[in-house]
Amino acid sequence: MWEDLEVALEKVADQARKSKPDPDRLGFGVHFTDHMFLMKWDQENGWHDARICPYQNFTLDPAAIVFHYGQAIFEGLKAYRGKDEQLLLFRPRDNFARMDRSAQRMCMPRIPIDKLVKSLKALVYLEKEWVPQREGASLYIRPTMIAIDPVLGVSPGKSYYFYIILSPVGAYYAEGCNPTKIYVSDEYVRAVKGGVGAVKTAGNYAASLYMSEIAKKAGYTQVLWLDACEHRYVEEVGTSNIFFRIDDRLITPPLEGSILGGITRDSVIKLAKGWGIAVSESRIAIDEVLAANAEGRLQEAFGTGTAAVISPVGELFYKGTRHVINQGRTGELSARLFKELQAIQHGYQEDPFNWLVRVG
Ligand SMILES: *Cc1c(COP(=O)(O)O)cnc(C)c1O
Repeated sequence: MWEDLEVALEKVADQARKSKPDPDRLGFGVHFTDHMFLMKWDQENGWHDARICPYQNFTLDPAAIVFHYGQAIFEGLKAYRGKDEQLLLFRPRDNFARMDRSAQRMCMPRIPIDKLVKSLKALVYLEKEWVPQREGASLYIRPTMIAIDPVLGVSPGKSYYFYIILSPVGAYYAEGCNPTKIYVSDEYVRAVKGGVGAVKTAGNYAASLYMSEIAKKAGYTQVLWLDACEHRYVEEVGTSNIFFRIDDRLITPPLEGSILGGITRDSVIKLAKGWGIAVSESRIAIDEVLAANAEGRLQEAFGTGTAAVISPVGELFYKGTRHVINQGRTGELSARLFKELQAIQHGYQEDPFNWLVRVG
């Protein structure tokens, strides 16, 4: 049905273009570009009316399913301005493939992955002036799908919007890479096996806010979630996956249904294995992590995700006790992975896994 999906182009008039934000004060996800991608789905027509159009508001019925029952999924990836002014996307196909899996779990229509990679390239090319020049800065890309039918009965929507918006974002570590302090949640949980923890769906993030606020008030920037059954096994951190380096081995929790399978996580596993580092995807209890730390065997810990790429962990706060990791400093492997991934993403380094897609 979507082989013949045409993407129309409606450009913003030159005089209606927004002024570009101050590149030193981009923040995260607060400025949006002049154009967006939008397409619609209904049972009769499938995906249709695909277009790149001016960034605009939606008019939705207050009864729209997305507002009441959260039938909404999204993705997050970035476009980088690299070597010789090239515009580069990092593993965009993997993001749309993950979104397609999210769509199936949330009873939403499958998405045309290849068509979307092409449409995204066209959109980013059109908005190329919005891709920041600064080192470490990038254009954040947010594909989203929502159910729009005005029906209060709980059942899957019969009509959907799929859209992509773009936001120039600053370097995550404007002040250099400072290890984060993390609050281990021993009471509230993020996701259960059999639930939707492995899906990038809106409700997961709403459900996480309460614990995040508790952590923030206590002076912590992120929450480390434990498994929902025993409150014992490590799951993930905020919107990042987590890695521990213990006795020169990298350990990250396995993807068993409650954890989001990060593309950065997968990239780190592949790079580390390629460097001859032992990597295990295995369950690890918080007690094991803290015991290893006390014995000096926990060399470093870091989170992985599109936003920060690699985010070193300097401290874990668990049941009222602070546990400082690696003297609160960035670990050697964290630094090496960060440097390597950034260099690949910006095209300064060979791309051995063919992760980059060139725009234009
Ligand atoms: C998006 C996300 C991640 C990281 O995924 P990447 O593909 O590496 O950006 C990890 N955990 C959660 C809960 C997420 O939403």
